Amino acid sequence: MRNRAFSRILSRKASNITMLPETHRMLKETLVAFTNEQLIPNARTFDKFSLFPRDQIEQLGKMGILSLNMPSSLGGAAFDYLAYALAVEEISRGCASTGVIVSVNNSLYLGPILKFGNDAQKKEWIEPFCDGTRLGCFALSEPGNGSDAGAASCTAKEESDCYVLNGTKAWITNGLEAEATIVFATTDKHAKHKGISAFLVPKPYEGLSLGKKEDKLGIRASSTCNIILENCRIPKENLLGKPGEGFKIAMATLDSGRIGIASQALGIAQASIDCAVDYAMQRKSFGSPISNLQSIQIKLADMETRLQSARLLTWHAAQLQSAGEKFTKEAAMAKLAASEAATFCAHQAIQVLGGMGFVTDMPAERHYRDARITEIYEGTSEIQKLVIAGNLIKEY
Ligand SMILES: Cc1cc2nc3c(=O)[nH]c(=O)nc-3n(C[C@H](O)[C@H](O)[C@H](O)COP(=O)(O)OP(=O)(O)OC[C@H]3O[C@@H](n4cnc5c(N)ncnc54)[C@H](O)[C@@H]3O)c2cc1C
Repeated sequence: MRNRAFSRILSRKASNITMLPETHRMLKETLVAFTNEQLIPNARTFDKFSLFPRDQIEQLGKMGILSLNMPSSLGGAAFDYLAYALAVEEISRGCASTGVIVSVNNSLYLGPILKFGNDAQKKEWIEPFCDGTRLGCFALSEPGNGSDAGAASCTAKEESDCYVLNGTKAWITNGLEAEATIVFATTDKHAKHKGISAFLVPKPYEGLSLGKKEDKLGIRASSTCNIILENCRIPKENLLGKPGEGFKIAMATLDSGRIGIASQALGIAQASIDCAVDYAMQRKSFGSPISNLQSIQIKLADMETRLQSARLLTWHAAQLQSAGEKFTKEAAMAKLAASEAATFCAHQAIQVLGGMGFVTDMPAERHYRDARITEIYEGTSEIQKLVIAGNLIKEY
């Protein structure tokens, strides 16, 4: 029963793609094949041993998936943000850790450099990070503040030829493997969030060290660690944007990143549904498949409805971003709905599987653990609600 159930999950067809443009359908189909062949068979091992999926990231890099929204002149794949959403969802269906590694490089690292960097910075900090051989990361959170990002205590003191960075950035995804990071530090404490600036920092680098690798509940194959800055002297030309623009850069970046995390959550929700439907059709109780039971069907219907609703919100936010429209509220709604859908679907999938949902032979328990982070990082669900309501009120 165990192996049969697993192999049928592998053979499920891609769904919901008829409404997509041809280019996006092709991208999705390519990634369905990649996910089925490269991620689903390995995700359990990556999770169990907290193994960074290096080969898979390199392959995805060669396919352009680590730089989906970068222009071809900088070595990127020149896709729009809907393509980015589709890619992160599909990859996360197989391995949510790989999904976040891809998402962080695309939207938290490359995205702000493209938007706020000068030509020289784009050449130096984007081009070598497009093909998966080098990764970047984004260092905003600190041990003392996460939701309240404007309260940064990390400092950047201006000297004649450089900025001197001091402080600790916390919870940094890709922190171990990344070869560059965007660090947010305050250049003017009195100006509060308007005194925060953003800096491009290479890794490894004198004055920069790493904390321990965090031992996490989920997304265990992606690394998370502190970045410690001790008299770290950064050349002045590594300032991203203008002095004091850091908070604005961080918030704009998170708008985009939230589409990535919403998509990661959709992938987890889809994988949970695939697993639950598949199992319900095979598992017999009282003489017939449990998929014939109304109580199981109600669970499946609720799961599918939440997933599809969240997917439409996510695609809508991505399309607004591609069209150059405001999308802050829509990205927050997408992340809120998709992360709640992922948690709900993963929880219900375990219930459908009964005892088999509780053991590592089946992927349901991993989906349950992976889903949880989507309600926390890049703004908790509580913060998404503040963003949604704040933007809604402004519309009146
Ligand atoms: C695995 C992982 C990877 C991460 N990756 C990165 C990364 O790459 N880069 C990075 O910069 N950060 C990263 N983070 C940090 C992440 O973004 C923060 O953990 C998150 O923003 C929440 O901050 P906090 O943990 O300090 O919680 P707090 O801000 O301390 O919040 C604790 C609780 O209080 C609630 N709360 C706080 N303020 C309010 C409010 N005003 N109204 C209502 N409720 C509120 C929160 O919703 C939450 O429930 C990562 C975190 C994790 C766990």
